[in-house]
Amino acid sequence: MCLGIAASARSQTPVQQRILANIPIKNHERAMTAAIVAALQNPVYPFGAVMTIARTGEIVATGVNASSVNPTFHGEIVCMNDYLKKFGNKNWKDLILYTTGESCPMCMSALTWAGIGGVVYGSSIRTISQSGIRQINISSRSVVEAADFSPPDLLGGVLEKECDALFMNRHRTEHQA
Ligand SMILES: [Zn+2]
Repeated sequence: MCLGIAASARSQTPVQQRILANIPIKNHERAMTAAIVAALQNPVYPFGAVMTIARTGEIVATGVNASSVNPTFHGEIVCMNDYLKKFGNKNWKDLILYTTGESCPMCMSALTWAGIGGVVYGSSIRTISQSGIRQINISSRSVVEAADFSPPDLLGGVLEKECDALFMNRHRTEHQA
């Protein structure tokens, strides 16, 4: 019933914002593989992220969940901070962030405020929740669609099986992030 509305909302997205569909899936998978490798550094909360230059696919920043240090240090925020340290607060629209898990509302909002060009994720919030990690059930799509300014392009389900395996096989502890 909502399909018509969703389709018309998508068609209103400015052409220059729709950068992800123009990149071969193999390139998305290569970047997501790097995000998975990063995620392996945190076997309990395997949220890994990398940022690439959209035009070249070059990886310019990485991040892994460090919420034990700071509750806002999700993989995406750590990756954004890595980029900021190296390059400063600029050229966000030329970048794509890849994350093993769909971004939570905090990260998706931060990425939207930054004006990043695109966000690509592997596992959905629903799957992450099924792996026993607490989630705020607001999809990345919902955050993007709530912005009253040009939001990032969004693509989910890249290397989803591999990312799902990360979360489902994660080391479980008593403590929750
Ligand atoms: Zn987050």
